[in-house]
Amino acid sequence: MATSVQPRFGTNGVRGVVGKEITADFALRFGGAVGAFFGGGRIAVATDTRTSKDMLSQALLAGLTSSGCDVVHLGEIPTPALQYYVPARRLQGGVTVTASHNPAEFNGFKVVGADGMDASRDEERRIESSFDEVRTPVSWDRCGRVTQAADGVAVYLEDILLRVDGAAIRAGAPRIVVDCANGAAVHTTPDLLRRLGCTVLTLNGHPDGTFPGRPPEPKEENLRELARLVVQTGADLGIAHDGDADRAVFIDDRGRYVHGDRALAVMARAVLAKRKGLIVTPVTSSSCVEDVVLEAGGTLEYTAVGAPTVSRRMKETGALLGGEESGGLMFPELHFAKDGGMAAARMVELVATGTRLSEAVDALPPYVLVRRSVPVAPEAHDAVVGALLDVARREKVLTVDGFKFIRNEGWVLVRPSGTEPLFRLYAEAKKAEDAETLAKFAEDLIRGALPRA
Ligand code: MG
Repeated sequence: MATSVQPRFGTNGVRGVVGKEITADFALRFGGAVGAFFGGGRIAVATDTRTSKDMLSQALLAGLTSSGCDVVHLGEIPTPALQYYVPARRLQGGVTVTASHNPAEFNGFKVVGADGMDASRDEERRIESSFDEVRTPVSWDRCGRVTQAADGVAVYLEDILLRVDGAAIRAGAPRIVVDCANGAAVHTTPDLLRRLGCTVLTLNGHPDGTFPGRPPEPKEENLRELARLVVQTGADLGIAHDGDADRAVFIDDRGRYVHGDRALAVMARAVLAKRKGLIVTPVTSSSCVEDVVLEAGGTLEYTAVGAPTVSRRMKETGALLGGEESGGLMFPELHFAKDGGMAAARMVELVATGTRLSEAVDALPPYVLVRRSVPVAPEAHDAVVGALLDVARREKVLTVDGFKFIRNEGWVLVRPSGTEPLFRLYAEAKKAEDAETLAKFAEDLIRGALPRA
């Protein structure tokens, strides 16, 4: 008998390797668990472009309909388009079949509630606890029905088009290179930008779940072709999405990769120039965001890591903008979700109205980040936390997620990994040697708490 590894919810949905953790059988049980959680009603389903999308979504539909839910199948659309659709059409919830930025062999599921927001950790636990339940399917006369809906992209793009200054963009006539990664953005961003009056050159612009052009994670080493094209064509901006297009990452007009937290800082400066308010970001973000926000007269709140945490906090506080350093920006005027399409439109609006992204980035305070990890066996975990707590009594520390020691020259954040037996540390300062000193302080602290071999 094959041994099955039961997948669990991570920081952003359930993910795993197709055929190993993520199988048609699991999708069926997952659909049943989600259907039982919603207790009927109409549920939207969407997928990104992965090769396993049909196998998994068909099994998911069987699970949902066998528990009495009606399904509105939106087909292949970005995750934020599904998140927009659910409240716009007053549906009970939604599920997207995606592994976001993970490689082609991965897939998974993300659940959203009636408000279109990511399910909370508590809701995920309730769904998770019933994965293995043997359910009695609903009777023949109560089986759910599946309808296909073709308007998932249209309603989403219509609203984005209303929220940005189309006349100003048209007048600026920016030239943009978009790298869709052969993911779900192929159906949205190029069309959106053309409708806004941009000249658009598309890279990896047809749907292909083998991701032949580049891996779906929009990190610097995967975007060399995009950077080259931006320079070669004299474009004003390069935009890259991940597989399900909730992330947008930017290449400036000089062909340089812009880190997600620096893009957030640029965006925050623009937002705060119009209106003062709160910006929300996880503790891992660069201090350049905080510097810019405070200088522009705004306030900043740090949250634990994870987009669902950021979006919930934004809703609670009425924040103006939020984002993660990985390139997930959230614009509450549209919804409380990471949105690559909206981020693209907003950045295009900025560069079309006189801001050169290279200049905006160069104007940000420079910081150096040092990342490191220290192996910590599970039995030594408590001793390390004890040592961190001990130092935390004497130092300025933020404990919203792990321990973030804040000093004049910079900060160092220490967090246990959720998946591996190690502690990760991130140290940031304006000078490289200060970042190095902070990293060494944290590393020595962890190593000093480990039992001697
Ligand atoms: Mg994603």
